[in-house]
Amino acid sequence: MKVKDCLNPGQILCVSPDLLEECLKSAGYFRLKAQRLRHFCRWYLAAGGFDALQSWPTHALRSTLLAVHGIGPETADDMLLYAFERPVFVIDAYTRRLAQRLRWIIGNPSYDKLQQLFEHSLPNEVSLYNQYHALIVIHAKTRCRKQKPKCESCLLQSACHYTRDHPPADPSPLNTASTCFTRRGGNRAV
Ligand code: SF4
Repeated sequence: MKVKDCLNPGQILCVSPDLLEECLKSAGYFRLKAQRLRHFCRWYLAAGGFDALQSWPTHALRSTLLAVHGIGPETADDMLLYAFERPVFVIDAYTRRLAQRLRWIIGNPSYDKLQQLFEHSLPNEVSLYNQYHALIVIHAKTRCRKQKPKCESCLLQSACHYTRDHPPADPSPLNTASTCFTRRGGNRAV
């Protein structure tokens, strides 16, 4: 989209639907995503754009974003944290997988419940949430993968219930971490 000079809502609405689909092809479900993106851009401009939306309180802005067709909690929270710089913790599949494997959660709690766990355990800081989430994503991609996680070289191994149930063939001496990952209350299950 950068190559096509198509990175802001006005430009996105100016390009043809075919070109927009072409730009999104590598992301999968590109037709649906193109439709939803155009819909969101129309809504965003009608709402007054960034400056108008930035003046909204976080809770109201989140509710408004969630009312836009095609915007779910994760997408709304991505926008709130990364674009509007609000202290909202983003929950994604990586976060859920790590929390399950470390047994910070039992079963499959709702998005909101898992979000509350992080938000109640960590200081309400945009930069912290931003970095914490980015580190979870890196960890999930490089170590805590869905299939065949690389537990033998993971610093969280000594705190991890998953690896106790599925011990790696070659446990690493690296693993001396304790169980506490939060600055407020330590780990807990919900
Ligand atoms: S020990 Fe394995 S399952 Fe546990 S957090 Fe690390 S990579 Fe994930």
